[in-house]
Amino acid sequence: MSVKYICRHCQTAIGEIDSGAIDEARLGFHFLTPEERRDIISYSLNGDTVVKVICDYCKEALDTNPELSLLANPLQ
Ligand SMILES: [Zn+2]
Repeated sequence: MSVKYICRHCQTAIGEIDSGAIDEARLGFHFLTPEERRDIISYSLNGDTVVKVICDYCKEALDTNPELSLLANPLQ
């Protein structure tokens, strides 16, 4: 099992860490509200934890063009 970080906008794999060495508290997940956890954290069929974050590229693009965040989530 591992924890995989992917960009929520472009799906780029940002990083992966072995969850055997960590726990959710150390990842900071306990700071999130239940709604945020549902939005950010998901679990794949093989037991991996998938954390949706924003990669540097998308963060920069959003900082420059905040309206892009609306286009990236057309259903919200
Ligand atoms: Zn991205």
